[in-house]
Amino acid sequence: MIVLETVSAVREFRRPVRGRLGLVPTMGGLHDGHLSLVRLAQAQTDEVLVSIYVNPTQFNSTTDFERYPRAFEKDLETLESMGVTAVFRPTDALMYPEGFATTVKVTGLAEIWEGKYRPGHLDGVATVVTKLLNITRPDRAFFGEKDYQQLLVIRKLVRDLDMAVEIVPGPTIREPSGLALSSRNALLSPEERQLAPGLKRVLDDTAQAILAGQPVGEVITAGIATLTGLGFTGDYLALVDGTTLEELTAQRPGGRLIAAAHPGNVRLIDNRAL
Ligand code: AMP
Repeated sequence: MIVLETVSAVREFRRPVRGRLGLVPTMGGLHDGHLSLVRLAQAQTDEVLVSIYVNPTQFNSTTDFERYPRAFEKDLETLESMGVTAVFRPTDALMYPEGFATTVKVTGLAEIWEGKYRPGHLDGVATVVTKLLNITRPDRAFFGEKDYQQLLVIRKLVRDLDMAVEIVPGPTIREPSGLALSSRNALLSPEERQLAPGLKRVLDDTAQAILAGQPVGEVITAGIATLTGLGFTGDYLALVDGTTLEELTAQRPGGRLIAAAHPGNVRLIDNRAL
């Protein structure tokens, strides 16, 4: 496995004809959610490049950026043992050299939900993913449904900017408790960890009630009340159109439940199809 640290090293790596290249962008602190995307990439492409970069422009606070879990050496060992071809590990100076002035902003889609609660977050994601795609020029790039709005934003920017890459989604990988795997789970206190699986339970109960025909507005209000009762501070729980993320007041095909809530200091997001 090669570790690439400069744009020219990536270009050099990319130059020989190598069959289809798959890219799995990550911020490291790898868990089974990331590794499932690596396996999906290995099944669908000939060689897999994993990027590991904790992107400062997608964080809303320096504290969150600084305490974000990092485990580069362990990540390298894991990826090596999986037979990944290469890892791209850029530095901040490489990604955002002095004078860097461009932001990729997907208007509308990146301004609602996460865009509202974490202003600028999805612009940071869109910008760094555009750069990663331009640097590595993969045939396919793999993203988790866990970050559902992020996946839609990336699909949209790739279409809007005519980028020659296929975006492939991978399903959310969960703990047996139902909690979606996330690097940030490592930051949960024991009490928060106990509480955290409640988010998925509420998503499931809400989905069931909607599918049973109960009025969406009432079911959502009850779901939010349950989250609060459990001890979560809620940002949102909503039924949305799975393509536009427009809020729905009645179930229709393609509906998706999305949620963001804090069981304490850590913010969790989750979603499920109906
Ligand atoms: P991150 O390192 O958190 O930026 O995530 C890198 C990629 O892994 C993104 O495409 C995420 O959506 C995906 N991912 C994170 N957690 C999970 C999970 N539990 N299941 C599937 N994919 C995930």
